[in-house]
Amino acid sequence: MSEIDVVVQEVGPRDGLQNVERTMPTDAKMEWIGAVCEAGVPQVQVGSFVPPRLIPQLADTGEIVRRTREGWPDVALSVLIPNLKGAELALPTGPDQVAFVLSASAAHNERNVRRPVDESLADFARIVALRNELDPGRRVKVSGGIATAFGCTMQGAVPEAEVLRLAETLAEAGADRIGIADTVGYANPGQVRRVFTDVRAAIGPDIALGAHFHDTRGLGLANVLAALEAGVRQFDGGMGGLGGCPYAPGATGNIVTEDLVFMLESMGLRTGIDLERLVAARRIMEAHLPGEPTHGTFVKAGAPKGFVPASRAA
Ligand code: ZN
Repeated sequence: MSEIDVVVQEVGPRDGLQNVERTMPTDAKMEWIGAVCEAGVPQVQVGSFVPPRLIPQLADTGEIVRRTREGWPDVALSVLIPNLKGAELALPTGPDQVAFVLSASAAHNERNVRRPVDESLADFARIVALRNELDPGRRVKVSGGIATAFGCTMQGAVPEAEVLRLAETLAEAGADRIGIADTVGYANPGQVRRVFTDVRAAIGPDIALGAHFHDTRGLGLANVLAALEAGVRQFDGGMGGLGGCPYAPGATGNIVTEDLVFMLESMGLRTGIDLERLVAARRIMEAHLPGEPTHGTFVKAGAPKGFVPASRAA
């Protein structure tokens, strides 16, 4: 892979599809994910290990990991896990990263994973221990994610001190990466700059830090800029902003990957991603979900005249 400045992780196959009512068939998912890999996306979150009765749309995650690994061995694959059980199911399928998620809002954690936040933290330590039992050659990275870090539809405001406590505890427990998520699109750039700066100071320079934004209220890319200025170099995007927000009917979901990549590339930051191929992958996703609302502006306007993406300028 050529050198990249910012890692963009496509999370549409997980975050998008889990919020779409119908289930995309496995072969259709593979066609879409394959096109995402072909576009040069360095990391894809391909699904989650959550009980299929809760999220039937992602019941085929194990097969998706195996098939993507076989077809595109250089692309890093991530899967979301809500608990130790999820890790036990995920690790044998061979992902590069398991992304554990808990919520900074106690109310959201109870609803999402049905347990107090401190029980989730204890589970995270067990997940790291389980990973450490693997052969060193097959070590999988463990990401500790903090959802609703900027506000919560149930609780409202979320204290920044709680986000810092969680980040520090996850780091001490052995997280390779900390992900901070604006799950419901409440964040603003001032808050983002503060939280990421303080989290970085709290966890030290060695642990990767990732940002996950939703564009629910139109501040998604402004939040990306603020996080960039705070030193963040890993961002999640969802192709076409698929899936919306379960708490805000009609609103957009994840920040749109195509718009995110355009912004980064036009700022001179290499993502390694080919925008034309990315748009082609989006068309495949849309073809497999006819009538499903999608979002984004790059796809409507195209590139500016004479635009040279940073990844191609070198
Ligand atoms: Zn999300």
